[in-house]
Amino acid sequence: MKKHNFSAGPSILSDYTIKNSAAAVENFAGTGLSLLEVSHRSKEFVVVCDEARALVKELLDVPAGYEVVFLGGGASLQFCMVPYNLMKTKAAYLDTGTWASNAIKEAKLFGEVDVVASSKDANYSFIPKDYVIPEDADYFHFTSNNTIFGTEMRYDPDVKARLVSDMSSDIFSRPIDISKYGVIYAGAQKNLAPAGVTLAIVREDALGQVERPIPTMLNYNTHIKKESMFNTPPVFPIFAALQTLQWYKQQGGVAAMEKLNIEKAAILYDEIDRNRLFKGTAAVEDRSIMNVCFVMNDEYKELEADFNAFATAAGMSGIKGHRSVGGFRASIYNAMPKSSVEALIACMQEFEKQH
Ligand SMILES: *Cc1c(COP(=O)(O)O)cnc(C)c1O
Repeated sequence: MKKHNFSAGPSILSDYTIKNSAAAVENFAGTGLSLLEVSHRSKEFVVVCDEARALVKELLDVPAGYEVVFLGGGASLQFCMVPYNLMKTKAAYLDTGTWASNAIKEAKLFGEVDVVASSKDANYSFIPKDYVIPEDADYFHFTSNNTIFGTEMRYDPDVKARLVSDMSSDIFSRPIDISKYGVIYAGAQKNLAPAGVTLAIVREDALGQVERPIPTMLNYNTHIKKESMFNTPPVFPIFAALQTLQWYKQQGGVAAMEKLNIEKAAILYDEIDRNRLFKGTAAVEDRSIMNVCFVMNDEYKELEADFNAFATAAGMSGIKGHRSVGGFRASIYNAMPKSSVEALIACMQEFEKQH
């Protein structure tokens, strides 16, 4: 039976990525060696790493003055690397979910953190809109897509301060105005590659402003200068990332991905709103086009486990919601075909008929 992978992360990758990565595990670039056993400094791999960084720049239209690096430690390490490298005295943070609040916790180790707004009291079901960023903030940090709560800021906020964003779960889902940002970071395991690598896009003149000493491995400049080869980078995830980036380019780039993502999300939200068994959990204007969260309507609450079993039996994988929201979460990242979203919708309609 065809499986439809709605998992929140690690998550679905394109067939192109999986097939090419599998082939390279057997024989990498005609070397007769496995990708898993070649030197990161071999000429064949250096080409992979360089091409991947160049394609990130091409796809996201990264202007001069920015560098792309591949790092270890997940998006979670960026919660500390960002303030370590960028915070002189004070930074502004928007608290829109679990990941945002984890970032806030780390930033407090480095200076004054102004949490300009929070939707915590509403279980992060919406994105606060009325907030003021202090004039003297070194940067404004926000999470563009709240993977757990299914809300998204699908725009580059218009504020005076330089932006910093955790785009782990929606990078490459839309064009971005990079010039507004100091740092953009993303753990790879949602829209790029298997777990193990983190992408960062760093504005070079945002660096070197802080007085504190920065440990070598936590200094963006270390990795920029050595083109992500200061120490052994995660070779396999970077190879897989290159495949995904090539696939994005073949699909028509991020503008084409955005169009398709909007279509996929629209048909699924339409069904959630129409189907008498279900309701969405995120504020309508803030709904994510990457993670679609929904629960059973109150009068059908007792059917939750049944629907999970019914959908799972029909090939839907990973739709159980995060424990902080309950119900269901369909993660429909870039690599998710529209036909899989249609399969989930058919499942919801069939279940409605039966009840
Ligand atoms: C998954 C996720 C993280 C955590 O990433 P790790 O690589 O596991 O540290 C952080 N932020 C967002 C928005 C995420 O979706």
